[in-house]
Amino acid sequence: MQDNTLHFQLLDILLHSSQYSLIDDGLVPDIDAHSKKLCELWNVDITALNVFQNTNAQGRYLSALFLSPDNSVIKEEIRIFCKSGNSYWDELFYRGHEETHALHLIDRIGILEDRLRMHGLNIDLRRYSDYKNCPDTVKEIVAHIGGLCVLAKSGYDFNRLPLNAAGNEFRTASLLFMMSRYEKYEKEKVRP
Ligand SMILES: [Zn+2]
Repeated sequence: MQDNTLHFQLLDILLHSSQYSLIDDGLVPDIDAHSKKLCELWNVDITALNVFQNTNAQGRYLSALFLSPDNSVIKEEIRIFCKSGNSYWDELFYRGHEETHALHLIDRIGILEDRLRMHGLNIDLRRYSDYKNCPDTVKEIVAHIGGLCVLAKSGYDFNRLPLNAAGNEFRTASLLFMMSRYEKYEKEKVRP
């Protein structure tokens, strides 16, 4: 049995898995061109991978099953990559976002919930642990929370969040995140 080490660099999470592997392709100039390159490498038709594609053109996660000759699964390889040329904060956010999609896909999103709790933030992510039955909208909200977590870790000024320009999923994730930060500060205030 394989022992793959999965390193979620921005989230600072290290995992082992016999079923999944994770490769972070980093920053690429063209998301679609890179997706096509991966499909050629995997020898699959790109249309067969649509189910794994998100609609955010700033980053993407793709996965492919590797099968043995008797059709049993050897492993599922996940690739994540983001568009180059973004600002420092956007790049951190998008990379954290894609890492979170991958963490969710392997059904380990509870680790992010625990990580947030360690920093005093309570956001119930375990209720969405069942990736396959999770609606796409919720997957995006969960991934955005991961992106926001990376921003917070890096000292981002949350007053600068572009809430008005953003879509519904981002606004929902931001409100959940900021509410949990507010609750944390309120609790800390009453401590002796
Ligand atoms: Zn996404």
